Amino acid sequence: MTANVPLPVPRPPTADGQSAPKPADSEGASSPTSPPFAEESPPPAMDPAALAACLSDFAARGGEVIAPPAGDTPAQPGGACSIPGPVTFTQVRLSEEASVRLESPVTVRCTLARELAAWIRDDLAPIAKRHGGELAQLTGVGGHACRTRNGQPGARISEHASGNAFDLLALRFKDGRLVELWRADEATREIREEVKASACARFRTVLGPGADSAHADHVHLDLRERRNDWRMCQWDVK
Ligand SMILES: [Zn+2]
Repeated sequence: MTANVPLPVPRPPTADGQSAPKPADSEGASSPTSPPFAEESPPPAMDPAALAACLSDFAARGGEVIAPPAGDTPAQPGGACSIPGPVTFTQVRLSEEASVRLESPVTVRCTLARELAAWIRDDLAPIAKRHGGELAQLTGVGGHACRTRNGQPGARISEHASGNAFDLLALRFKDGRLVELWRADEATREIREEVKASACARFRTVLGPGADSAHADHVHLDLRERRNDWRMCQWDVK
């Protein structure tokens, strides 16, 4: 009988050395139709007057700024992961009585927070209402994250790194219904079609299932500016 020597098990290299890494965003980097992008550099700081106007718009749309969660390290101003005009929020008020909560606090730049508040209040809540529900929560949310696309060394910096992107898994209605945006399901297809249409009208990048393997399990939104206002709307709703 041969000695039972444990052999090293070959494992695919991963960014963080852990098994089953969650695919990170590529933000369409591999798309062969991608146009030339602007040069990459740290985002410029936001003009104080523009930031004040943005915060005022955000509040007018029901957004409520909160303090960043304890342990959240603010990115160095001027650094690759700095956020111009960072805003942390966890709910958007629809009226005196009703509000939509984020499952966890999210930090993004004010210009994105302002658009998200409008999307939640003016698009998502009415969509829920049209389908006999009341939007209560955005589930599986993500904002600022200091990393490159796919978490690959040397790759372009992710829009999440400068607070210009938002990830979302599902919508939860007050009656408990959960609309998983990424899941093929005839029962929620119409709702997801409407969510997609509203997102693609509002944001410059929308990536979901069908865009690439990194977006098979969530929807990514960002306000990345490209030449000639080129937009990306890649999400196969099934
Ligand atoms: Zn994302």
